[in-house]
Amino acid sequence: MIAAQTPLEQIKGVGPRFLTRLHKLGLNTVRDLLYHFPSRYEDWSEIVPIADLKPGDMKTIQADVRKIKMNRAWHKRMFVIEALLGDASGTIPAVWFNQTYIKNTLKPGVIANFSGKAALRKDKLYLSSPAYEVVSRGGTAFYDDADNVIHADTKHTGRLVPIYPETRGLTSRGLRYLVQPLLDELEQLPEFLPEEVLEEYSFPEINEAINTIHFPKTLDEAKGARNRFSFEELFLLQLKVLREKLALAKEKAHPVKSDNKFVGKLITGLPFKLTDSQEKTLNEILRDIGRGSPMNRLLQGDVGSGKTIVAGIAAYLAAEECYQVAFMAPTEILARQHYATLKKFFPEFSRGLGLLTSKEARVYHGDDLEEEIKKPALINETSAGRIKIVVGTHALIQKNIRFSDLALVIIDEQHRFGVRQRAELQKANGEKLVPHLLSMSATPIPRTLMMTVFGDLDLSLITELPSGRKSIVTKIVAPENRDKVYAFIRGQVRKGRQGFVICPRIEKTTTDDKQTNDYRRQTINTSWDEIKAVKDEYEKLKNKVFPDLRVGMIHGKLKSAEKNETMAGFVRGDIDLIVSTSVVEVGVDVPNATIMMIEDADRFGLAQIYQFRGRVGRGEHQSFCFLFTESRSAETKKRLESILTAKNGFELAERDLTIRGPGEFLGEEQSGMPDIAMKALQNPEMVQAARTAAESCLKKDASLTNSTALREKLAEFKERVHLE
Ligand code: ADP
Ligand code: MG
Repeated sequence: MIAAQTPLEQIKGVGPRFLTRLHKLGLNTVRDLLYHFPSRYEDWSEIVPIADLKPGDMKTIQADVRKIKMNRAWHKRMFVIEALLGDASGTIPAVWFNQTYIKNTLKPGVIANFSGKAALRKDKLYLSSPAYEVVSRGGTAFYDDADNVIHADTKHTGRLVPIYPETRGLTSRGLRYLVQPLLDELEQLPEFLPEEVLEEYSFPEINEAINTIHFPKTLDEAKGARNRFSFEELFLLQLKVLREKLALAKEKAHPVKSDNKFVGKLITGLPFKLTDSQEKTLNEILRDIGRGSPMNRLLQGDVGSGKTIVAGIAAYLAAEECYQVAFMAPTEILARQHYATLKKFFPEFSRGLGLLTSKEARVYHGDDLEEEIKKPALINETSAGRIKIVVGTHALIQKNIRFSDLALVIIDEQHRFGVRQRAELQKANGEKLVPHLLSMSATPIPRTLMMTVFGDLDLSLITELPSGRKSIVTKIVAPENRDKVYAFIRGQVRKGRQGFVICPRIEKTTTDDKQTNDYRRQTINTSWDEIKAVKDEYEKLKNKVFPDLRVGMIHGKLKSAEKNETMAGFVRGDIDLIVSTSVVEVGVDVPNATIMMIEDADRFGLAQIYQFRGRVGRGEHQSFCFLFTESRSAETKKRLESILTAKNGFELAERDLTIRGPGEFLGEEQSGMPDIAMKALQNPEMVQAARTAAESCLKKDASLTNSTALREKLAEFKERVHLE
């Protein structure tokens, strides 16, 4: 018996080279290997007499080797192996190239299955490089009484044959050799899915499922097993998330009381009227922070929908109650912008509003009193509790500041919505009460992901933009119209406007380790090499296209001081056009920017483009968005056109999820989530089913005391999957 956690190096037949390749796929134990599922199956199950083969057939024959010889072909290095195969109905030649070792296996007299394409050469039928598998080393083929071939216990031929996601040097054939004997010797795996679930969805039991997914008898059977494994991952994910939510609800937080009259005064003091959505989400937040258990809320709203002020009011109220607030932004420019916003909208705020960037520290005391202080002084004042709201970047606040009484953490535009940051800040708060957490994001999250990966977060949605925003003229631009658009842009800049040019990221992805991610790349069909690097684009625009304009560049590889300097120049109006990777995706508010140009738009997710576009259209002038694409494919065009018709970002996010997969949202990096789970995230019914099952499971037994197998499986799942 082999235990599932046995390291692969202890398995017979796994040599060092093979092992390296397995490790490269992230396969370290027997369990990993057995959970490395086929991506598809080839159907070689039909075994026919040689005489029945027709040109083009992809079938299996069972035949004995009559003759076999090897020749060096016209190409000096090329070997041709030719065999004559025969069964009771006739004979057929088979040809292989360069697989010289075949001769050692297929000796005359050996009976084997041959699965391959029947092709014609000079009007004669032959088998072209068939897969072969010895079924008997001599004697006659296995026929039953009715003269049918008996299906031997094969793995490469005469059946549905698993095809695995491959890496260089690790073939499906090699994997089959490894997997099949392991399946025979594997210990019984404990079933951890609740019995009701197996019954309700007619899922195969785990041991059966693992056998079937590798070597199914029918495609239906394979599908059943695959469904089970998809469900299994979603179920575990739900359990993890729901249990985290339960655990958090048991923690204590400062209840931040809000006095309605005071809130009303703050709101009427603003230079604009809050939108209905802003009011609604504000109420949700105030209700949450008024409780004694920690809030865990995501405030989602399109770019420009006015999230900052909603968070700002919550921050103000917490400070009024003499608690502290950490207000974190992804960049220094944004931190400065948020600080300025709070100062502007709450000029009378006198409990200490701090700004911390790498270069400066400031404190605002209300009534126009602002002082520049040394950073250590700001840090001291904060830990002494004399500054109530500190605005800064994620990095600065996390690393440097200790709080005396932190009650609320606000995190703007953070990809993973700040769960880890809160944990760290809680430490910085001396492990007292758990601070409330408010994350803000313009990224709409598809429903299935909201229910699973982000299922521990409560969601507040701003569904409208402040009134008076002009809609943005959006055009898809074919290559031949590029010059016209350039001319148009020049005209806009002459009128005093500014613009962004967004290019896909600079790094090339290596094709080698991307092999398992095929489905996520469906829409990316030209090579990354062709991507216009930001640098090239910058050089081109600056020197050739717009030598008369002031062009700047920002990308992720620049030092943050350089980035800040360029962005600040843009904000001041010293730069006309800024060429950038997707780093400008997150939020700077430049009302004078009216042009958004996106290069190779087809390479971006729709929701992402939608967000880029949201960067313009803030001010009084008409704004424009140009989507450049080299692609002539109707499908690409149609995909891009959905930007023109979509009602909101959610619609596009859902579409991205079906077209490009969850990698778009979760990041392509290894999250540890197997492909099967990533795919399952695209299936709303299954996600819902897994949620229902997980909820009812926890209702019965919240600590899973009575389900040892499930508890262990969940622990293993947490080890394996890292979504932060
Ligand atoms: P985002 O949701 O992208 O973070 P911001 O909070 O930066 O958006 O708000 C965008 C702009 O809209 C800011 O200049 C802000 O002052 C303004 N704003 C916010 N709420 C309203 C409103 N209700 N009416 C008019 N303008 C608003
Ligand atoms: Mg914002």
